[in-house]
Amino acid sequence: MYATDFRMTHQRRLILEELKKVKTHPTADEIYVIVRKTMPRISLGTVYRNLEILSAMGLIIKIEGFGNQRRFDGNTNKHYHIRCIKCGKIDDLPEDAITNIEVDHNKIKGYSIYNHEIQLSGICEQCHNAK
Ligand SMILES: [Zn+2]
Ligand SMILES: [Zn+2]
Repeated sequence: MYATDFRMTHQRRLILEELKKVKTHPTADEIYVIVRKTMPRISLGTVYRNLEILSAMGLIIKIEGFGNQRRFDGNTNKHYHIRCIKCGKIDDLPEDAITNIEVDHNKIKGYSIYNHEIQLSGICEQCHNAK
């Protein structure tokens, strides 16, 4: 993997800053379009690699399991996501929307549990109103 180089390079910092500005949970391709405005010569591969490293560094969150493209989140506070099954947009849920998740560690053999993820899906207001 890429787990060797954890320096904060100029490119890496810019990708991180741009990702923290948006609430849309963009894909790597979408982030590429954004950062190219300030770094016209950056390659898509560089963006992909830096996103993987930033997520390994714990500075961003990689969202998987929503469709076939991995998405990224600059908000590293614990929060859950909801995705519209029609337009594919992903929103943050309010912190208190899901509470009291109980995991019975005795029932899960062979693992020490460090994290859990919950992803909701539904139809957003815009798609609902558009019919
Ligand atoms: Zn929608
Ligand atoms: Zn989020």
